[in-house]
Order: sequence, then structure tokens, then C-alpha cells
Amino acid sequence: MITLHNSFATDVPLGVLAQTPDPAPSPALAVLNEALADQLGLPLDSLRRHGAQWFSGASWPQGATPRAMAYAGHQFGGFSPVLGDGRAHLLGEIISPNGARFDLHLKGSGRTAFSRGGDGRAHLAPMLREYLISEAMAALGIATTRALAVAMTGRDVLRDGGLKRGAVLARIAASHIRVGTFEYFASRGDVGSLRALMEHTLARHYPDAPRTAFGLLDSVIAAQSRLIAAWMGVGFVHGVMNTDNMALSGETIDYGPCAFLDSYDENAVFSSIDHSGRYAYGMQPRILAWNISRLAQALLPLMEGEEEAVIDAANAQLDGIAAIYRAEWRKVFARKLGIDAPILADDALIEGFLTLIQGVDFTQSFRALQAAKTDAARLSALIPLDRRASLDGWLAQWRARIQHAAGQGDLNAVNPAVIPRNHMVQAALDAAEGGDMAPFHALLKQVQNPYAPEAGREAYCLPAPSGYGRYTTYCGT
Ligand code: AMP
Ligand code: MG
Repeated sequence: MITLHNSFATDVPLGVLAQTPDPAPSPALAVLNEALADQLGLPLDSLRRHGAQWFSGASWPQGATPRAMAYAGHQFGGFSPVLGDGRAHLLGEIISPNGARFDLHLKGSGRTAFSRGGDGRAHLAPMLREYLISEAMAALGIATTRALAVAMTGRDVLRDGGLKRGAVLARIAASHIRVGTFEYFASRGDVGSLRALMEHTLARHYPDAPRTAFGLLDSVIAAQSRLIAAWMGVGFVHGVMNTDNMALSGETIDYGPCAFLDSYDENAVFSSIDHSGRYAYGMQPRILAWNISRLAQALLPLMEGEEEAVIDAANAQLDGIAAIYRAEWRKVFARKLGIDAPILADDALIEGFLTLIQGVDFTQSFRALQAAKTDAARLSALIPLDRRASLDGWLAQWRARIQHAAGQGDLNAVNPAVIPRNHMVQAALDAAEGGDMAPFHALLKQVQNPYAPEAGREAYCLPAPSGYGRYTTYCGT
């Protein structure tokens, strides 16, 4: 049995609409995340027996009251007052054995009142893509929603002029409260719901924070700064950091056109629709601040005090984001260099390394550092010849620094050998579409174990072959 709770719907009734998933004609499980089910205290035998039904939307566990969540959002800078779950259903909340609350949510489960022109559906490859990449992120130690299962519906979906096999992703999240959820109530002037949402969010995610709009803003600034710095540290490009895709919990959410860097490039963009590079790799910290400003604006009606003073206080908080992010960035990158307690002066060392690896494989460069403590041959082989003198200078400084740095343990424990390489992900998804799940499972196993040695899995550690060309991602609707 699984018991589902509904605290969000109870606390914020106008934030949801009762909506039922489309009945799936021929449900079947494509993947079930048994390790995650176990962590959540979900009974494996029921999941194996009923998972195909539950996770395809054919039927739902007892106590589930499927709902679509309402939200607004700034997409590529422009505001849409009503977005909402157009192809997703919140089934309810699970309480794990250690008392943590998680949403159980279906994506691709049919049309809702928020669908506008969309068909409410999803097909197999993008749902497997979210499964794979979110599992990789979790294994890399980055806060993220998780994939519990992918279920086939038995219904074909029309995409790009062709029929694809319909699928649903069952997603687990600390919550699905987005910056856009706050914008939804703020733009309607519904201060009562806005306050209820704030109180629910604080109680659920930040129980130790002051129970005020400023307390919430502070907490989200800290959590999101930590998150974006962690993305930067593994070369992750989210691709569509709209305010409806930013979670108040500080988890990575909505894996659409995301991708990982092969070669290091601040301007890297993978999404087919991001023409201006708004969500390029190096833009992510700036978009973090922009999105948080939208949250602050939505929270204004809840900020108590004289208007001018409130605006000054909110602006002061927003002005602080750059420094908070910078400290998180320094922590992440210093750790990758073997420095546990960084000082300001370490920024130059970090930036020096990033200059050296411009256009060079990001993951392999950091992975070469462990050996480079004593022998830089492997690192040196990656760096273009005309930078070798700079590399020697940098190595001398770095080695001197880490001699004195606390905790310069095994750098292979913080710099992954394996990330979900774009060409590998694509090959696994192409095979899955053709009915062969073996490459997907093989890749999943590798990305779930990112820090283990390269030996025996070299192919997973290499960038795309040079003739592979530019990798483009799509929103996956
Ligand atoms: P996303 O790009 O996935 O973050 O979604 C942005 C908005 O479009 C959300 O309101 C989604 O629910 C909605 N949406 C995306 N795909 C579909 C679809 N196939 N049918 C209906 N709504 C969709
Ligand atoms: Mg979204």
C-alpha cells in the first residue's frame, strides 16, 4: 500500500485544480527506480504489480486525488500569467521513513485545464532523458527532482510529423512550488493565497527561517546560489531557466533541453530555441539573480513596513545575491582543485585554470588534476601547445597552494570521470526508441557511479568524437 497526503492542496486550495490523468490504453513499465522506491519506503511488490497502471495514469493509488498545479512564469523574459501543469498531474505527497515529504507527480499524463493548444502528452525519449540526467545529477550530489519510473501508455503521440510511443515520467520532488507559483497569485492580486503559499513553503522547505517574506527570500537565495554553483561545477546547462522552471526548494527541476559541456565554453548553448544565448552556461548566475528578482517582486505584497523601506530592504537582499553566489562558486571550484577552505585569493587560481582549459574538455581537465599533483603529463596532453608555459606557471602556484590547504584528499572523489555525455545520451535514447533498452541501462549504471575509476569504462569518459558536430537539444514536448 502507499499512502498519499495532500498538504499543498489543503494549504493552498486555489493553487490546484482537480484533474484526472488520461486513461492509458496499454500500460507497461519501461523503467522502475527500485533504489529510490526503497529510500522512500515504497513497497516494491506493489510498485512491481501496480506501477504500470499508477505511473501511466491508468489508475492511481488509493488516497490519490490527482490535481494540476497552477503557476505563471517569465519565459525568456516575457510574462505569462497562466501556465500551470498542462501535461502533468500531482498525485499526492509521500512521507519517507525519515519523515521527509515528497511530491509524487506524473508528467505526460494527459490534458488539463492548463493545456492550451498542447496535447498533454509526452513520448518515450524525453522522459528517459529526464530519468537519466536527473539520476546523474543525484549521483553527482546535486539537489534535484528524481525519477521513480517511466511507464508506456500504449498510445502513440504525434511529434515532428511522426508517431512516437507515448510515455509518462513519475517524478519525485521535494515540492513543485516554483517562482512562477508565487507570480501566479501576485499577478492576480490574491494576497490571501500568496500568504498561504509563503507559509506552506516556509514550513515545508525552510522551517528554521524567519516566517516572513524576507526570511523566504533569504533562504531561496542561499539554496539557489548553491544549486547554480553546483551546476557550474559539473558543466551543466539547464537550457530553459524560466521562472516556472525554478523551484523554491532549491532542486533542479524540469529537464528539457539541458545538456553537459564537453569543451569548456562560457557561451555554450544547446537548446534549439535559445537563439540569444539567454540561458548559456555562463549566463546562469545572472539569470539566477534575475529570477530571484521576479520572486522578490511577487513577494512585495507580503513585505511588511513602509513602502520605501520595504523596497530598500528587498533591493539590498537582491544586491547581495552576487556575493552569495560568488562564495558558493568559490567553494565548488576550490574543492575541485583540492582546497576545502578557500580564501578570496583562490579566485585567481580558479580563474587561471579555467583560462587554461578554454575549449578543452571540462570533465577530463578536472579529472586530470589528481595525477597532476605529482605528474602533469595527462593534464598537459589536454592543453593546447601554446598554453604549456602558462600551465607550468599555474601548476607551480597550485602545488604550492594545496600543500597548505586543508583536506586536499583524493580529487577523483570530487571531479567525476563520467557525466552523461551528449552523444552517449543520444545513442541510448535512439536505441530505446528502436526498442533496445540495453544502452540506456548501461549508461544509467555508469552515470550513477560518476567518481569510480575510468578503467574498464573508458568509452563513457570521452567527449564526442571530433566529427560529431554541434549538439542541439529540443524542449521535448
Ligand atoms: P516546459 O517547457 O516543460 O517548462 O512547459 C512550459 C509550459 O507548457 C507548462 O505550462 C507546461 O505544462 C506546458 N506544456 C508543455 N508541453 C505540453 C504539452 N505537450 N501539452 C500541454 N501543455 C504542455
Ligand atoms: Mg516547466
